[in-house]
Amino acid sequence: MRIKTKLSLGLGFLFSVLLLLAVLGIFYIHRLSNDSKSITKDNYESLVYSKNMMSALDELDIDQKSSLLKFETNLKAQENNITEEGEEEITIELRNEFKNLKLDSLTNSEKNLVRQKLYAITEINLQSIVRKNKEASESASDAVLYMSLIAAVTILITFSFIVNFPGYIANPIKELTDSIKEISRKNYSQRLHFKSNDEFGELAIAFNKMAKKLDEYDNSNLAQIIFQKKRIETIINTMHDPIIGLDENNFVLFVNQEAIGILGISEVDMLGKYAPDVALHNDLLRVLLNETDVSKPLKIFSENKESYFTKEILQIISDSNIIGKVIVLKNVTKFKELDAAKTNFIATISHELKTPIASIKMGLKLLKDDRVGVVNEEQKKLIENISEDTSRLLKITGELLDLSQVESGTIQLHYNPTAPQEVVDYAIQSMKFQAEQKGVNIDIKIQEELPYLNIDIEKTAWVMVNLISNAIRYSAENSKIEIDIKKDKEHIIFSVKDFGKGIDPKYIDKIFDKFFRIPNGVPSSGTGLGLAISKDFIESQQGIIWVESEFGKGSEFKFSLPI
Ligand code: ADP
Repeated sequence: MRIKTKLSLGLGFLFSVLLLLAVLGIFYIHRLSNDSKSITKDNYESLVYSKNMMSALDELDIDQKSSLLKFETNLKAQENNITEEGEEEITIELRNEFKNLKLDSLTNSEKNLVRQKLYAITEINLQSIVRKNKEASESASDAVLYMSLIAAVTILITFSFIVNFPGYIANPIKELTDSIKEISRKNYSQRLHFKSNDEFGELAIAFNKMAKKLDEYDNSNLAQIIFQKKRIETIINTMHDPIIGLDENNFVLFVNQEAIGILGISEVDMLGKYAPDVALHNDLLRVLLNETDVSKPLKIFSENKESYFTKEILQIISDSNIIGKVIVLKNVTKFKELDAAKTNFIATISHELKTPIASIKMGLKLLKDDRVGVVNEEQKKLIENISEDTSRLLKITGELLDLSQVESGTIQLHYNPTAPQEVVDYAIQSMKFQAEQKGVNIDIKIQEELPYLNIDIEKTAWVMVNLISNAIRYSAENSKIEIDIKKDKEHIIFSVKDFGKGIDPKYIDKIFDKFFRIPNGVPSSGTGLGLAISKDFIESQQGIIWVESEFGKGSEFKFSLPI
């Protein structure tokens, strides 16, 4: 049954009970008033008339006329106040007796007869009063009984209504409120269990449907997310490079088996932990988290041997916000090994070539000497060409040897306090002839009172020679070169400036790479090693080398060394 119907029925019932009580009350009160009315009025009046007639009868001997009048008046009133059964007959008999009383005087026995009639009327009315009184009190008792019964039933029903109804309405509402709270806490398994067929029953069905839908949605989403997560984890784990994922607050999101292997920390000790805290007990992780140092390969003991890894830190950006980062290590051990093999090979070859080339040079020198034998002009020219090629070959093998020494780390630096001027003098000495040959003028500007540098003069001069040699080679004939040496804070800056063709900006970043030569650059001779070796020589002395060039107008190569 619906709540609305139940409420209507309950209230209707209460209304009916109230109506019944009101009707009964009115009925009994009416009845009681009728009973009491008839007692007070009719019977009482009959008693008064009878009493008056009785006293008139007694006064008959004293004042006959007024007594008869009194009797007559009261008898007439009695005749008009017949209410009881048998009262009429006695009153008629009394009237007949009264006719006799008027005619002549009555004997005592006749008076007694009249008195008997009057007593009879009084008796009838008294009995009636007693009866009616009894009836009235019975009515009152009935009224009390029925009304008490109805009141008791009504009180019982109302009491049970008062006790049960608030709960009947409030309990489901409370259960519903609790369930909604559970749903808001994502407990979608929550259900309502109202068995009734009323509005609450319908509410429970609708609520349970909603919770079921939410549950299904949540489960399907969760399952999908878990599946996607598993897939990504598998991908990350199958990768051969160590990978560590961090969120924007540096908490570890994921770490693959490779990374666990090289770090030597268990997955449990890393996942969800604050990475800098974990790094307190792990030197390698501390190095990996350091964002500034990403250039040099890291030497890490992995797979029972020393391995080399390059580090890359990728920022994860979503909607222009950084939401985390991924540290990826690339195992470059194989390349390192190949590089070492190559360096070894170059070192061996260049070393092995040096001796035969030197002996060729020696042979050529002897051939040129007239004391050994006279050679004709054509042969002289040939010897000259071979000599030039041999010098180039010797230069290349020398550079290759230098390179292999730099790469293998066997380069020996001999630090000595050196005046910057000495470096320039040393270089100019060996380049003078080449400059003069091309008609290139060298302008030298050296700041006064420069401090001494603690450097390897040979290596530094080698760089200076290489820069001047390039400047001459890439300048037009009869042009000039400017050499400038000055102090800048804690460094001495060496500069070699030419006014040649300059360097195309797209190659600027590459010219310090090994074996790099600008395509179609003139002159065609050269190995592309000079600047690479220069870079290594300067950097191994804690210096920096760089170039500023305006394409078509010239280049300025600079290097700075700490004082
Ligand atoms: P190379 O033996 O070829 O000169 P380097 O390492 O000394 O080798 O130079 C690398 C390349 O840089 C050269 O091939 C050349 O193209 C460019 N380069 C070097 N110096 C200059 C310069 N002063 N002006 C223009 N280009 C230059």
